[in-house]
Amino acid sequence: MKKIQNYVNGKWTEGTGEGVPMFDAITGEVVALSDTQGLDFGEILHYGRTKGSEKLRKMTFQERGNMLKSLALYLMKKKAAFYELSYRTGATKVDSWIDIEGGFGNLFANASLRKLFPNQSYHVEGDAIDLSRGGRFMAHHIMVPKKGVAVHINAFNFPVWGMLEKCATNWMAGVPAVVKPATNTSFLTEAVVREIIASGILPEGALQLITGSARTILDTVESQDVVTFTGSATTGRLLKSHKRIIDESVPFNMEADSLNASVLGEDAIPGTPEFDLFIKEVRNEMTVKCGQKCTAIRRIIVPQNLVEDVQIALGKALSKVTIGDPRLKEVRMGALVSKDQVTEVRERVQELSKTASIVYGDLDKIETIGADAKKGAFLSPILLREDHPFTNLAVHETEAFGPVSTIMPYKNLDEAITLAQMGKGSLVSSIATYDNKVAKDYVVNAASHHGRILVINRDMAKESTGHGSPLPNLVHGGPGRAGGGEEMGGMRGIKHYLQRTAIQGSPTTLTEITGIYQQNAEYKEAEQHPFKYHWEDIKAGMSLKTHNRTLTDSDIINFANLTWDHFYAHTDTTSLDGSIFEKRTAHGYFIIAAAAGLFVYPNKGPVAANYGLEECRFLRPLYHNDTIYVRLTCKQKIDRDVASAEHPSGIVKWYVEVFDALTDEMVAFATILTMVEKKQEVFVE
Ligand code: NDP
Repeated sequence: MKKIQNYVNGKWTEGTGEGVPMFDAITGEVVALSDTQGLDFGEILHYGRTKGSEKLRKMTFQERGNMLKSLALYLMKKKAAFYELSYRTGATKVDSWIDIEGGFGNLFANASLRKLFPNQSYHVEGDAIDLSRGGRFMAHHIMVPKKGVAVHINAFNFPVWGMLEKCATNWMAGVPAVVKPATNTSFLTEAVVREIIASGILPEGALQLITGSARTILDTVESQDVVTFTGSATTGRLLKSHKRIIDESVPFNMEADSLNASVLGEDAIPGTPEFDLFIKEVRNEMTVKCGQKCTAIRRIIVPQNLVEDVQIALGKALSKVTIGDPRLKEVRMGALVSKDQVTEVRERVQELSKTASIVYGDLDKIETIGADAKKGAFLSPILLREDHPFTNLAVHETEAFGPVSTIMPYKNLDEAITLAQMGKGSLVSSIATYDNKVAKDYVVNAASHHGRILVINRDMAKESTGHGSPLPNLVHGGPGRAGGGEEMGGMRGIKHYLQRTAIQGSPTTLTEITGIYQQNAEYKEAEQHPFKYHWEDIKAGMSLKTHNRTLTDSDIINFANLTWDHFYAHTDTTSLDGSIFEKRTAHGYFIIAAAAGLFVYPNKGPVAANYGLEECRFLRPLYHNDTIYVRLTCKQKIDRDVASAEHPSGIVKWYVEVFDALTDEMVAFATILTMVEKKQEVFVE
């Protein structure tokens, strides 16, 4: 029997043991053997921290993002083979799409985040903080890649997505990964990792794979490492309290099984679109991935007068779900991951049914098409009904990780919120209502207990991604029982792998460190007009002081006529009494326009276009006959790789300070953005 291998220390390696069989969820046949015996986890983690970290941490966010994008494009071309293997985990085509292409989608989405980071290997976070009266002492936060390795201990249900949603963030941060998928579906993870390694897109050591049991993997984790865990709450708690995790203060992100609730609003009566959407959502959540989703709806909270209606409608919807060989087009639900999992789910249902009654499905009977129900890990969807959810607590405590869910009644919205929070923290909750007041009440009062809340109604239904889909740019995780962790979430996810450090010093020093011009830093007088430089030659701090301009009475009147902005302060000097203005006042936009007139270099050059304005403040009024001058200073450069072969360009942010020429007092400032061309390569034939 074929043994799958581990990719560690730069090579594919076979375990030295007999191997643990991994079973085909549909036929019960052995797919391959998993074997991790003989692996030295300490050595593997060390290899990641040294070889893997070496190159990754020096790459810029832009380079890392492009690497992720290339990898996603490469893997997309190989996807057919992954689907074939995915069927063997019991997954249908739709289930596999979520796992496989959902995983690649995560790489794409994280790749796009490169635009939100500076064009360097570390991040500069938030605004600068002035710490002194004289403006000579300040602080800024920077975030550098941790010098450790990301250890991902994953669950069986998403062998591809589970790996990539986590790795996308640590790679973006510049940190290598060691992935340990759950044993029983690791054959699919291994196939994807084989392609990743073969692509040569990642630097060596950026990804290592342990395809099976790794009970001692945490024994050598160090303080610069980050551990993530997805799986059962029991294992999660065990690993989170591992001595080494505590001794070394290793960040531990836990995402555990939670009893997610969906609420039907009182307005969503039968016949409304919201009622139908609710039924569809619950049916999907019960049957997609055979209910083996950490985000699946386990508790169906409905107004007490609608319990019968919901039960009947759900029963009907579930009866249309065909079960069997996931390769068949007509099959809507495949098998659970293994027969052991079937036994596990059965036991949980038996616990639940001590007080709740089964109102749809049978634990011992199932009809399948194209597959032998006895050989595969099949189970009918099971719908339960618990009429006393405030006293019978099993429904809030027992998770049957399969196609199982329980209906329970509520009398008013407060009760619905209380029931939802009796799950003691979940990854996601949802509510179907077309009453936005109800939606607001639910969201504001229930949010403390849920990582994400979806409001379902007719307006969003067509484009909704659904209750069960964690999205790369949204936080995924939840409080309490859900583990208290937080994954993905756009930039937030990446920041889990960066060390935030407050840097204090002079504005000039901080300009050098952050790559962003800080107010009061020394100007670097430009040798020629800054707009004459190409993108590559512009540096933060490069500065130009312009000549003076006096703002005349007729300038202000002309500007008012030109723009139709006839605000009294500019046009009616008789009405200034009692206002903050003393004389005819220049329009703020005139000051900005006049500033541009002073700093713009008129000839054709590398500055391709004005790209916008980010911040703008008028610090005090300017009156007719006041004279101004401007300081134009490069604040920051943002690289971009927009496919414009003829004129590749980057964005330059310019800090524009407007001064009163008489007193040298700053009277206005703004940050303007220009698109600046990069140098063109000259081809000589
Ligand atoms: P486990 O919690 O047992 O396993 C999850 C991961 O942890 C697997 O990779 C497993 O490896 C690993 N693991 C287990 N024990 C240790 C240990 N001592 N040291 C290091 N790694 C360890 O979950 P299962 O996959 O067995 O599923 C059991 C239940 O967990 C399900 O029935 C369901 O209730 C819940 N679950 C929740 C998920 C969620 O997303 N919230 C997802 C999947 C399951 P190995 O496979 O090699 O044992």
